[in-house]
Amino acid sequence: MAVYRFSKCGNCGHRFENMAEGGDSAYGPPFIKCSSCNHLNKTKYTLWRDLSILKKISVMFGQIIRLIMYGIGGIVASILIAYHTLIKSSNGFDSNFEYMLSINKWYAIIIFLLPILGLLYLAKSEIKGFFNLFKTFKYHENLYDKNKGFLWSYEWFD
Ligand SMILES: [Zn+2]
Repeated sequence: MAVYRFSKCGNCGHRFENMAEGGDSAYGPPFIKCSSCNHLNKTKYTLWRDLSILKKISVMFGQIIRLIMYGIGGIVASILIAYHTLIKSSNGFDSNFEYMLSINKWYAIIIFLLPILGLLYLAKSEIKGFFNLFKTFKYHENLYDKNKGFLWSYEWFD
């Protein structure tokens, strides 16, 4: 799952924020240039290629935990919810979903189907993000070099 990430420009106070892949870790651009005032902000981050092997292991460990929690956890949770709402019989109906459909169609769809689809969508983007990690690291490094030593705030907080 994406996490909320925010920071402020040290010069003009412009607020950077987004929902980011990757969470809070040692990984990131050491310098971020404010797109509002052009001030170069120093960060606590390090590019992947410059991280020590221990830091790399710790960043990857964090990513694997996320993959298990949100990627695999999301799939397991959606299967459990699907089983209890769509498959398991209840109140004399074939399923909780059918029971709810008999009461209110839209309520049934919103309460039962949206959480399952939402969880599957989050799990999918989490798993995809994990397998694209090295591509993402490389992408940020290329931008960083192209800009000659920083990422624009909109490139990191996209
Ligand atoms: Zn600024």
